[in-house]
Amino acid sequence: MTARIPPLNPLFPSPPDWLLEGAAHLWLPYSQMQTTPMTLPAVKTEGVRITLADGRELIDGISSWWTAAHGYNHPRIREAVSRQLDAMPHIMLGGFAHEPAMRLAKRLADVTPGDLAHTFFSESGSVSVEIAMKMAVQYWLNQGKHGKTRFISFRGGYHGDTIGTMSVCDPEEGMHTLFKGAIPQQLLADLPADREKEAALEAFIAEHAHETAAIVTEPLVQGAGGMVFHEPAVLAKLRALCDAHDILLIVDEIFTGFGRTGTLFACEQAGIVPDIMTLSKALTGGTLALASTTARKHVFEAFLGEDPDKALMHGPTYTGNPLACAAALASLELFEEEPRLEQARAIAAQMEEELAPAREISRVRDVRVLGALGVIEVDKLDDVNWFKQRFVEEGVWIRPFRNIIYITPPLVTGKEDLSRLTGAMLKVTREWATR
Ligand SMILES: *Cc1c(COP(=O)(O)O)cnc(C)c1O
Repeated sequence: MTARIPPLNPLFPSPPDWLLEGAAHLWLPYSQMQTTPMTLPAVKTEGVRITLADGRELIDGISSWWTAAHGYNHPRIREAVSRQLDAMPHIMLGGFAHEPAMRLAKRLADVTPGDLAHTFFSESGSVSVEIAMKMAVQYWLNQGKHGKTRFISFRGGYHGDTIGTMSVCDPEEGMHTLFKGAIPQQLLADLPADREKEAALEAFIAEHAHETAAIVTEPLVQGAGGMVFHEPAVLAKLRALCDAHDILLIVDEIFTGFGRTGTLFACEQAGIVPDIMTLSKALTGGTLALASTTARKHVFEAFLGEDPDKALMHGPTYTGNPLACAAALASLELFEEEPRLEQARAIAAQMEEELAPAREISRVRDVRVLGALGVIEVDKLDDVNWFKQRFVEEGVWIRPFRNIIYITPPLVTGKEDLSRLTGAMLKVTREWATR
């Protein structure tokens, strides 16, 4: 079989044979395959470092898409997974119970706010949001309330790449125009970030409450939509509006969950309890694919009864995979036993200080920090690939997108390594601004 081989990567001109052979056949995420060069061959990870096939090391500034909260290869998680691998890598959850899924469901009930206590497991964030959406629609149906089938979501929001979740993403991010006709049309609003938007949202909700199953939102930070922050009061407002209008509140903590914003869950900072919460990304500390959809007592109870049609009809083949659940349990233990949240706050303080000089760079529009998330926003990034290349040359793994140069380092990142990351951000951004 012959296939088109992607262009060589200037950062890695002599790739290993497995890359040369496979690159013609592997379809990469979010990539124009005609122009995207071969990706960098990584052969090992350890702590906050990624080793390339030629021995070069990169400090990871983004925790492999925001997952590796404890850094890579944490011995605690490795041992838990390895023990589970010996005993039982997988077994179907239909008809069988196993310890990791049961213990994890119980642990999540303990650590999530309020009476969030009933967890459904899946393998990706997008699917966990799909499940939350299904739960919300059926919650109303099971109570005999028909017509509440739509969702209110927010400009700048991101909730996944599947057809259902695309419909609650920002219209541009979710490619609503391109996929018009394929994705359901939902109700798009602005987050109530000021008085005017608050009034507009109130009116919008009053108009659409009868057809709305739930509001879907990311708490405190819209991640993939551009690392845009909002105040905890915004979440409190959404909670109050949902209560007043008989609408469920789905809080998508897939990005923010597990310490990223300085608390274990972002919604804690608003003192609110969503009706349904989704988690994934850092759930297993960046080791295995797992996601959870956790519902409050009243949501769960709406599915109880003699009628089999009232049950939640969903069941991914790998739901509650024992390896992934064992990893998540070990990860949660680490959050308890090691000072992760203090580390997140220390990272915040250091980033505040070290990123501040970026404000002096022309073309920088904003510098902002929330927990272990540091952002330099510039006017416009038309050469993202130049940035990516320069960062690798500087020995760091940082991937700007839109007009955002950001880091979400592992929470265990030491002072010096963090300075390498922030230093590279400043250096490369300065270079770019004066090019
Ligand atoms: C990444 C992300 C998702 C999608 O998760 P996948 O595992 O990529 O499907 C959903 N919501 C938020 C907030 C995310 O950051």
